[in-house]
Amino acid sequence: MDVQKLREDFPALSVNRGGGPPIYFDSACVTLRPRQVIDKVIEYYEQYPGCHGRTTHYFGRRTTEEYVTARKKVQRYIGARKPEEVVFTKNTTEGINIVARGVSFRPGEEILSSEMEHTSNLTPWQIVSAEKGVKRRFFPYRKDLTFDIQACEDALNEKVRVVNVHHVSNVTGVEHPIREICKMAHDYGALVVVDGAQATGHKKVNVRRLGADFYSFSGHKMLGPSGTGVLYGRKELLDELPQLISGGETVRDTTLTTHNLAPVPDKFEAGLQDYAGIIGLGAAVDYMRGLDLDALERHERQINGNITEWLLAHRVARIIGPQEARRRPAILNMILDGHDPFDIAKVLDEASGIMLRAGKHCLHSWYNKTGTSDSMRASFHCYNTLHEADVFIDALGKFIGA
Ligand code: PMP
Repeated sequence: MDVQKLREDFPALSVNRGGGPPIYFDSACVTLRPRQVIDKVIEYYEQYPGCHGRTTHYFGRRTTEEYVTARKKVQRYIGARKPEEVVFTKNTTEGINIVARGVSFRPGEEILSSEMEHTSNLTPWQIVSAEKGVKRRFFPYRKDLTFDIQACEDALNEKVRVVNVHHVSNVTGVEHPIREICKMAHDYGALVVVDGAQATGHKKVNVRRLGADFYSFSGHKMLGPSGTGVLYGRKELLDELPQLISGGETVRDTTLTTHNLAPVPDKFEAGLQDYAGIIGLGAAVDYMRGLDLDALERHERQINGNITEWLLAHRVARIIGPQEARRRPAILNMILDGHDPFDIAKVLDEASGIMLRAGKHCLHSWYNKTGTSDSMRASFHCYNTLHEADVFIDALGKFIGA
């Protein structure tokens, strides 16, 4: 991977705040976007700013063509069987809500979750549980916060209707064995709903090989435009799932008192959509396909590894999750005892142009349960460099006097 060449594709790296290019270590929130994606978004607004579907004029036809193409690109990228299995959403959160609100539960059925789900894969199930009286249970993690497959297996039984779990953690960076989880859950007849927010921007994801029933992810975490996302679902499951939002574009026909729904995926895409964003997401998929994802992981691991090594050697931080960077390539989440992570993040930003995150990273439930204090998270992508890792180490060392 030629990182220097690839960096030229990202205009945000040229933002000049004085003192060199910005160092962006917050890709787990949103990634930067390459010129190719931005150009595609502009292309829509400048060349065919129409509406997809029923419009027959030129702009409408072009928008439809591009929208359909974007869906096929996503389908191929995630290994779905059919384009209809790809539902466009605003983000991971929306996809999970569609599923959580839609699954029908019989009396006595349960929802089984990991103890470390992002708020977006937590609160929708809390609401469903409260509204429908569905019991929820949780399985714990190992001490080093890696996945405990035995604990998951022990928690499964015939009552479990849904297992909801993330693919890669935004707090530890650790990947879950989704394929094994799906196999075990399917043995008990349960559905598996995967939060793939932190996976599709970094690794090869094949939903069929994984065996996921539903898989939700965000475009803005994989070099795509803001407010774009995808819900994958097996066709027969999407056919059965009720829509979350009703209205235009989701029906075949209506009378004053009735309507009949359009087939999937249209029944889930109510109202006019973010065409520019979705078409831009297609360009992001092209860009991701052009990256060597194995090389990307090696690269992230190296940057992460260099910083981790320094932190451990100087005993200045506790790392949340496994110590070895190879087990959490794109994420380094740390607590620097005696220092407020918000203060450090502010100083690093203002003095050294390093942008990273402080807080509970939408995992308040776990931080609160374990009494873990706020932490500082650095997250990486293809445009980060080993030099940036050195600058970070220097700046942090100065701040904490190491
Ligand atoms: N799940 C995980 C693991 C995440 O990291 C995030 C984003 N931080 C989300 C879900 C929610 O993503 P979005 O805000 O794009 O819906």
